[in-house]
Amino acid sequence: MEIVFATGNNNKMHEIRRIYSDLKINDQKVEIYSMKEKGIDIDIVEDGKTFAENAIIKVKAVAACLPGSIILADDSGLEIDYINKEPGIYSARYMGEDTPYHEKNLNLIDRVKDAVGEERSARFVCAVAAALPDGSVIHTTQTMEGRIAYEERGNNGFGYDPIFLVPPYEQTSAELSEDEKNAISHRGKALRAMRKMLEDYFSKAG
Ligand code: IMP
Repeated sequence: MEIVFATGNNNKMHEIRRIYSDLKINDQKVEIYSMKEKGIDIDIVEDGKTFAENAIIKVKAVAACLPGSIILADDSGLEIDYINKEPGIYSARYMGEDTPYHEKNLNLIDRVKDAVGEERSARFVCAVAAALPDGSVIHTTQTMEGRIAYEERGNNGFGYDPIFLVPPYEQTSAELSEDEKNAISHRGKALRAMRKMLEDYFSKAG
């Protein structure tokens, strides 16, 4: 049995390999591959309206190229309540794909400058979908709740991590170690929830 993760992102491959390293299906070890390792190079139009829809679009596109494998994909982003959950599903494309995150982060801090306390609430969201060998698709969406900081802090992580304050640490997710972040992050939770769903599915399927 093999799992192919529909991403070109090495950080995501690293994380899934850690979380799924000892996964067994029908008592057999599962091999984890990236799309690239499987020679899949396709452009996928992510035009869903939710994180889950986009993750499902990705797994279906890759499953069409690799029937019989388990395909996994994620879609994630930052929702800031004060600005109607922006940038949301457009998190990667916000202000342009090539704009440095330092600029995106300063822009978001400015857009919430009048918000205080709870008004600064925000969350990282991650949907993980799996296309199964029988053609069915399962998915889960998980979050990490927090608040938007008043300034960028920390050098770990990526993207919007420097402006995302994580209670109870009162540190940004860019100040947490990789292990601390993975233990509570939207992506860590979604990958672990999906692992459980896969174990349940295959134990019932026999
Ligand atoms: P995608 O899931 O690869 O489509 O990209 C999601 C985008 O959301 C990233 O490019 C980041 O801008 C943002 N994002 C998602 N998860 C995180 C995170 O854990 N830290 C910081 N930014 C994130």
